[in-house]
Amino acid sequence: MRQTQLFTKTKREDPKDEMSKNAKLLIRAGFVHKEMAGVYSYLPLGWRVLRKIEAIIREEMNAIGGQEITMATLHPSEPWKQTGAWDNVDVLFKIQSRTEKEYALGQSEEEIVTPIVQEYVDSYKDLPVAVYQIGQKYRDELRAKSGIMRGREFLMKDMYSFHDNQEDFDRFYQIAKEAYLKLYTRMGLVAKATEASGGSFTTKLSYEFMVLTDAGEDDILYCNECTHCANVEVSKQKEGDTCEKCEKGTMSAAKASEVGNIFDLGQKYSKDFNFTYKTADGSEKQPIMGCYGIGLTRLMGVIVEALSDDKGIVWPESVAPFKVHLLALGDSEVVKMRAEKLYMELQETGIEVLFDDRAGVSNGEKFNDADLLGMPYRIVISERSLKEGGFELKKRTADKGEIIPFESVISFLK
Ligand code: ATP
Ligand code: MG
Repeated sequence: MRQTQLFTKTKREDPKDEMSKNAKLLIRAGFVHKEMAGVYSYLPLGWRVLRKIEAIIREEMNAIGGQEITMATLHPSEPWKQTGAWDNVDVLFKIQSRTEKEYALGQSEEEIVTPIVQEYVDSYKDLPVAVYQIGQKYRDELRAKSGIMRGREFLMKDMYSFHDNQEDFDRFYQIAKEAYLKLYTRMGLVAKATEASGGSFTTKLSYEFMVLTDAGEDDILYCNECTHCANVEVSKQKEGDTCEKCEKGTMSAAKASEVGNIFDLGQKYSKDFNFTYKTADGSEKQPIMGCYGIGLTRLMGVIVEALSDDKGIVWPESVAPFKVHLLALGDSEVVKMRAEKLYMELQETGIEVLFDDRAGVSNGEKFNDADLLGMPYRIVISERSLKEGGFELKKRTADKGEIIPFESVISFLK
């Protein structure tokens, strides 16, 4: 894409009403636009990041047998009343229509998915089932001060699984946990799985997936020897204790952000909706359910918090809006021609490129924008680089670039 075609521009100043680094950088760089506290629109560059995060999650959920659907977000009140959530879930947005009918906005979708799956599962042979969606969620959060990490509207992947027995649930639960750890790694993050209390309706096992960052709202303890990790809120351990799991390492305290979690829901919802199916011996049984959430917009914020530097954002290649930021400097015709040619070649080879083809913008401004926007590779074409026999290629994370001969650039990037 040509930067002259991109309708957004970078801003010099931080927004005045944002405390968090992720919101400051993303707004300055033109990735997101704030509508009100906790509600953001995603602009071309931000939208591309979200689509990449989404693609990674979709691949990993499909790989473990998840079937993608998309559910309504405007809900009738009845299923919410049936499960008791209408009165008990404090973040639920409730709407009254002009005919005084009541509705809810989806904050999680057990109330919608359970009756859907119920309609198609008659026998134990129809199980297991795992369905997921990637879509908007609405929550009446009291505090929304962490930028896109805590929204009143946000993007979530929510998966729900239905099983015939506890063993089958446990099998799938472990597979889902591994898939989660893998997808965070693919996004350039290190996530730790805490064992948590399990929410309001069950005392069963649950995992929270935590990424260490000072911008996070959770306090965790983690072992410096093994993978053990716990939320301070629920843990019997404290900082400096010997790890209760490996009995060797020491527990350290840190701030972290919850980028996903998975719950054993037991039969809570199958009971609420009287969801039964026939077993092999002809009797009636209620499925065991699990739910599996990931906050996509929160992940985007966490990536910015965890990886950016004092110059701007640093996107991992897997989620960057473009792999390459191509900068043409000065107004020499040869430079322009070379830049145009490389731009075409990169596109032909399927390498995503943002081309800073703006005229009348200083070199310094172009460099600053490239650092702020944070593409993994910067390629500069200038009279100087041409004299040195090629393009200057710099990784966003490197201090200095190197000259790459014209003919080697594509193969280098591949
Ligand atoms: P938190 O404790 O941070 O409020 P939660 O326990 O309410 O999270 P879930 O209801 O399980 O979270 O939602 C699944 C995932 O959705 C969370 O792990 C998180 O990544 C994301 N998430 C939850 N609330 C928000 C929010 N208000 N804004 C953005 N992402 C969110
Ligand atoms: Mg919450």
